Amino acid sequence: MLLPSVISGAVEEARVAAPPVLTDRYNRAITDLRVSITDRCNYRCVYCRTGNEGAQFSELPMADYLRMVRVFAGLGIEKVRLTGGEPLLRKGLVEFVRELAKLRTVRTDEPLDLALTTNGHLLEDLAAPLKDAGLTRITVSMDAVDPATFARITRVPGSFDHVLRGIRAAQRAGLDPIKVNCVLLRGFNDDQIVAFAKFAREEGVIVRFIEFMPLEEDRLWSPDVVIPIREVVAQLESFRPVVRLAANNHSETAVRYTFDDGIGEIGIIAPVSQAFCGQCSRLRLTSDGKIRTCLFSQFDHDLYAVMKHGGVMKRGGSDADLAAFIERTVAQKEARHHIGEPNFLKPSRTMVHIGG
Ligand code: SAM
Repeated sequence: MLLPSVISGAVEEARVAAPPVLTDRYNRAITDLRVSITDRCNYRCVYCRTGNEGAQFSELPMADYLRMVRVFAGLGIEKVRLTGGEPLLRKGLVEFVRELAKLRTVRTDEPLDLALTTNGHLLEDLAAPLKDAGLTRITVSMDAVDPATFARITRVPGSFDHVLRGIRAAQRAGLDPIKVNCVLLRGFNDDQIVAFAKFAREEGVIVRFIEFMPLEEDRLWSPDVVIPIREVVAQLESFRPVVRLAANNHSETAVRYTFDDGIGEIGIIAPVSQAFCGQCSRLRLTSDGKIRTCLFSQFDHDLYAVMKHGGVMKRGGSDADLAAFIERTVAQKEARHHIGEPNFLKPSRTMVHIGG
């Protein structure tokens, strides 16, 4: 009788002493996975898509993503963000979230942190079911608070009202915090910064401004289009004095601010002017089941092929085969991106086809 408890005690001790965490060759712990569950999108945002092309890559059955995520979680992934394309277009999403919510982290034996990034168009009806299924957090992409500007960007008439209703439904459902991400481009929506500050204060959401990266289907990006942090802060200051907030954790990508009266939170994410690759904890899984180790990777790593055609007699890989492939892939994670440098090469996929 003593032996099993001694053994289980030893296992418990080993788990505490050496948590199984994926680590890359730069000693970065890889704990964060973004999963694109469809390459389709119902918006054609002018800075993201040409407007002429639809989905370019296939999508897998939800059961395949679930199996992959289970293997990732077994290796130490703790946060999973569902994205796309537009993830709310995917049938079976609520059931998928319910299954994901049953998975637990190996390090702390807690449920995974489950988040979702959406354009919000279909959120009004889905916010409560998603919350009930176990979604913890939501980020809504929104690049203007002026309805006409918003419709020009998304190329969908009436889109602003849909998204606003979606945000409010998410609040009622208790999804907390709600983050609203805005990609800023000079001469395009940089006149929206103060209006967004007011929106954050009035709606009780965290607004985050994100620098535009060279990840578009068209060729729009140039250093001049990117609006650096100091310019955003100067505009916010023209509205009210801002106060810097402490980071929530060491790998946080946003620099956080509030105003002098403590009302409203604004984040600024500056992957171009203040790259945070040194703290990168992310992997991405594309809708067709390929791992990307960096947004700017030149290669995909085909996890789906291992699942379907790997293993003994090429009849399909076991979970151990998938885990070994993931570990080998993580070993190849890039040190950093090279945006703005002479040797920069555009990545092999654009944002909408990777999963932002
Ligand atoms: N459809 C969902 C949405 O709208 O959030 C998820 C996919 S979308 C590609 C994810 C995010 O990527 C959006 O917030 C979008 O604004 C952002 N994005 C697209 N192209 C970008 C670029 N070139 N630079 C920075 N962010 C970009």
